[in-house]
Amino acid sequence: MSVSTGREFLSIPGPTNIPDDVLGAMHRPAVDIYSGDLPHVTMSCLEDLKTVFATTGQTFIFAANGHGAWEAALSNTLSRGDKVLVLESGRFATAWGEMARKMGLDVEVLPGGPRRAVDPQAVADYLAQDAKRDPGQQIKAVLVVQIDTAAGVVNDIKAIRAAITEAGHSALYFVDVIASLGCMSFSMDEWGVDVAVAGSQKGLMTPPGLRFNAVSAKAMSAHERADLTTHYWDWTARLAPEHYNKYCGTPPEHLLFGLRKALDMLLAEGLDNVFRRHALLAGATHEAVRGWGSSGALELNIIEPQERAASVTTILLNEQHIVPLLDYARDNCNVVLGIGIGDYNGKAFRIAHMGYANAPMLLGTLSVIEMGLSALGVPHGKGVQAAIDFLAREVPAGKQHLGETGAAGEADAKSPETTTCAGQTCC
Ligand SMILES: *Cc1c(COP(=O)(O)O)cnc(C)c1O
Repeated sequence: MSVSTGREFLSIPGPTNIPDDVLGAMHRPAVDIYSGDLPHVTMSCLEDLKTVFATTGQTFIFAANGHGAWEAALSNTLSRGDKVLVLESGRFATAWGEMARKMGLDVEVLPGGPRRAVDPQAVADYLAQDAKRDPGQQIKAVLVVQIDTAAGVVNDIKAIRAAITEAGHSALYFVDVIASLGCMSFSMDEWGVDVAVAGSQKGLMTPPGLRFNAVSAKAMSAHERADLTTHYWDWTARLAPEHYNKYCGTPPEHLLFGLRKALDMLLAEGLDNVFRRHALLAGATHEAVRGWGSSGALELNIIEPQERAASVTTILLNEQHIVPLLDYARDNCNVVLGIGIGDYNGKAFRIAHMGYANAPMLLGTLSVIEMGLSALGVPHGKGVQAAIDFLAREVPAGKQHLGETGAAGEADAKSPETTTCAGQTCC
């Protein structure tokens, strides 16, 4: 007997839920690529992305997935044989490093633990050694992720920059914010990040297929000397004024209309409110896992509370229960949970609270997990009640609302008028 008819609850860490207003903004015919709305949409998105990255540097939009934007960052700034340092935490930084190796870069990895964030002091020590070894062969770039979506960990990007500076090292600082931009604070300029890499289908609530680079002046000057640059990713070619060149070909039109709408929604909600909403949903999830684990078999992967990510939670569970639990939630209740990936496969599952998500969506997902644990006879304590108690404490009566994520302020929305259904959910 299944109770699955109704809306699907997509609770995986990307792609994430797409707001109806974003879907609606894309529901339109193709348009001319040289005139009309589209060039304006591109330019306004490039500008608003600067606000989201908190930078006055250059922003670029690629028709690509995250791996494409990784390649763009490396190829635009580095030369064959350059040394790069990967700061391991979870899965994604090392995968970025594997790509760098195939591109002809000399990759060193500072190993990390599966349940911890990168240790800034270890970075400082490693780089101080590097600076002494052979000044001609120094590390040219340091690669790290802000939130690793496999481990559910958040790295302290500001502290790692301080470690690089403390070591007196001149390496470029590359940060993957694919799973954190639009979910928690990121201050590119203030934190001294040289290249930030982000994408559409996680915190930015837009379908997969758009990727972004935000680039500091220092990285732009490294770009002038890079010999790995290829035409498709070339930042310089994309700085040309012609709209066509900004995408090295036909722009991904409908994704851009969707992104425009999503940026309007994020800026109307206010980035600080967006971050607070994510922090509350993450906190509720952590409370739920703590409750389940009090008399049972579940545990948060990340041990230190301040190292737990705001956008995704990785939960350790005995292998025999993982697939049955995920099958139960999907087949009986239409809730799709994330499987553990990389080293966490067979050891963990994941709950995303990323992008277009509010309290009832999260509480629904948590409730179905608890229902599944009961139905499958997996020992557990009370988690949903712990999540509710946490939210009731953090969101007191009469003060604030958790869940106004669809309230796009139409006043300064920059989406083309024809695409919106003023204020309300459409289609
Ligand atoms: C999802 C993700 C990626 C990969 O993005 P794709 O679009 O799948 O290529 C890279 N880094 C992080 C941190 C991610 O969460």
